[in-house]
Amino acid sequence: MSDIGMHPARPGEQALPPGTRQEWEEGATGLAHVVTPGEVDLSHNVILYLEDITVSFDGFKALNALTLAIDAGELRCIIGPNGAGKTTMMDVITGKTRPDSGKAFFGQTLDLTRLNEPQIAHAGIGRKFQKPTVFENHTVFENLELAMKADKRVRRTLFARLDSQARDRIAETLRTIHLDAQADRLAGLLSHGQKQWLEIGMLLVQDPRLLLLDEPVAGMTDDETMRTAELFVSLAGKHSLVVVEHDMAFVERLGGKVTVLHEGSVLAEGDLATVQADQRVIEVYLGR
Ligand code: ADP
Ligand code: MG
Repeated sequence: MSDIGMHPARPGEQALPPGTRQEWEEGATGLAHVVTPGEVDLSHNVILYLEDITVSFDGFKALNALTLAIDAGELRCIIGPNGAGKTTMMDVITGKTRPDSGKAFFGQTLDLTRLNEPQIAHAGIGRKFQKPTVFENHTVFENLELAMKADKRVRRTLFARLDSQARDRIAETLRTIHLDAQADRLAGLLSHGQKQWLEIGMLLVQDPRLLLLDEPVAGMTDDETMRTAELFVSLAGKHSLVVVEHDMAFVERLGGKVTVLHEGSVLAEGDLATVQADQRVIEVYLGR
């Protein structure tokens, strides 16, 4: 395809300005000596471990001694009022924000506080931001192809024989995200919900171990919301997912463990019915 040299952004991210790309390439290449994908140490069945993470903005603690563990293959929902620190938590996990103190580990051995954003993405953590950022002037298929080629790991192993293996992977992803009938459509013509699925597909072709999804069903129709819940349930196990969401019908449908964040710490954790019955949780939501 003619776009191979255009340096697509990693999915979930705006196109990088010239220069930044090189930094990313170097970062990702540098990490190859530190970690090979598939090497995430899951010997204790924990894919993500945060301990006592604090992040201050001008003295205000957006995260305040946050401690959280996500099991390998888990589908975890994070809820909490606006300003609770949910997005800041994702910023810490992905290396966008450095914590003032605390530990953040991917598996047993990868210290996320010592890696930069590209290295963390390369290690297998994919992030979906709220706004879809697909390439509108490319087809659905091309979007997935570009996302796959932007992944160094894939480039090294699959790229040389892109054709059958990569195409199979794209075809499988198209089915997973319910867009197989739209493969040749321009992404700009998709519905809002379909664009969100495409962006999730652009993460999936890179086969992340851990997916972080910030308010993935905002703006979706009820039908799209429920299909997204089914999609996430189907991804759990093979991937681990951390989903920030306000839509309680969606959270209920996901059926996983729920963590309630409040003022930068964990207020409650358990199944949705249990946390919803928790007096402290009720007060936090009513007291808004
Ligand atoms: P949530 O996603 O749960 O709504 P955020 O993590 O976005 O909450 O924000 C937590 C708190 O930290 C909020 O009070 C927000 O205003 C503040 N905050 C987040 N990012 C910054 C920043 N870059 N500078 C200053 N304050 C910030
Ligand atoms: Mg947020």
